[in-house]
Amino acid sequence: MLYKSLKSNLELVDFKTAVINGLAKDGGLYFPSEIKELDESFIKNLDKKTNYEIAYDVIKQFVGQSINESDLKKIIKKTLDFEFPLIDLEKNIKVLELFHGPTLAFKDVGARFLANCLSHFNTEKESIVLVATSGDTGAAVANGFLDVKGTKVIILYPGGGKVSEIQERQLTTNGGNIIAMKVNGVFDDCQKIVKTAFTDYDLNKKLNLTSANSINVARWLPQMFYYFIAYKELTKQQKEIVFSVPSGNFGNICAGLIAMKLGLPVKHFIASTNINDTIPRYFKTKKYIAKASKQTISNAMDVGDPSNFVRITEIFENDHDSLLDKMSSFSFDDKQTVKVILDVYNKSKYILDPHGAIGYLGLIKYLKKNPKYLGIFLETAHPVKFSDDIEKTIGCKIKIPTEISHLLEKEKKFITINNYKEFKRELIKF
Ligand SMILES: *Cc1c(COP(=O)(O)O)cnc(C)c1O
Repeated sequence: MLYKSLKSNLELVDFKTAVINGLAKDGGLYFPSEIKELDESFIKNLDKKTNYEIAYDVIKQFVGQSINESDLKKIIKKTLDFEFPLIDLEKNIKVLELFHGPTLAFKDVGARFLANCLSHFNTEKESIVLVATSGDTGAAVANGFLDVKGTKVIILYPGGGKVSEIQERQLTTNGGNIIAMKVNGVFDDCQKIVKTAFTDYDLNKKLNLTSANSINVARWLPQMFYYFIAYKELTKQQKEIVFSVPSGNFGNICAGLIAMKLGLPVKHFIASTNINDTIPRYFKTKKYIAKASKQTISNAMDVGDPSNFVRITEIFENDHDSLLDKMSSFSFDDKQTVKVILDVYNKSKYILDPHGAIGYLGLIKYLKKNPKYLGIFLETAHPVKFSDDIEKTIGCKIKIPTEISHLLEKEKKFITINNYKEFKRELIKF
């Protein structure tokens, strides 16, 4: 399978080139030029397969000749060596927990797959991976790339308490080939520095820069695995299934839609957002109007101009009616988020994180009008990552999992920068 650019449709490249470039030369996002549906028998027999087998069969057409079977299987093994439990929460509501990876957020899968692919394609020149983060991406990318030969990772994150204490520790205590830069500004400023670096001719002549944000197909596509893995336990299910996905840059839900295109029987997707509601507004008005992002307690979804949405409109061939048939989108504010965390804790003793809480709210809203479906929402981060907000809400302490308890003793190391000029001066030193 080849990838086209969604801007001009002119460039056709293989998986390897798409992964190394990140973004097409014309500035467009890469998208599969054709998608072949999987056999019905594959879907019916998901419950008899391991997660590794499922992942291999799902991803192989997207990788094509770029990686041979045995190496791809090894990469998948390194990517998926943790659990993805599907838990009954209420009648007709299940939660798919995606936070059992090393950095306790769902981004571990995409980040590990990307890191292992890049290391497989290893070119002679060292790759400098630049990543702007509002919290979770940086941690997952750092963890995925830690000690990967031939790579150095520069994480840019906003200072002034915009990432939580645990997130900051995950970004700044890695050492080795991971360098953290704390930017005096907001997430948009971090992203701007990264974008400027990619267009800085002088810098690109010296260094081999790569992006690890979800525009990269190797970070985006492995997220399909979640939906197939969840369905493993639902093959005997009589009811039709809907998924609610807490969404920011819309990479995860877009991977779900590709899973559906591959034949996974999903009736409907709900894109649940915080007050950064560009897409819920689009569903109502048919007009896409990006806005500057606003800060919320579900900080990984503070995105005002979601990059992956063009991929979603491409899936539906730009037909608004078929988009509305398969997808809904709702937004919720911090007050509603905090209230539902408390309500669910009181009712079920289950602790939602602010992102999962928004997924739950979107699902409840949809099921109210469509009660005959079975609803699954994605819990995308462990609540301990946001313990400051959550412990205040529920009035009790969250136990710190062993994956991160050791971080609390480590020293935070970062370089503070104020602007692009300072960034470049520091970068050239490494
Ligand atoms: C990144 C992130 C999201 C949003 O995912 P997108 O693919 O950007 O829509 C949701 N929840 C958490 C915890 C995240 O880290």
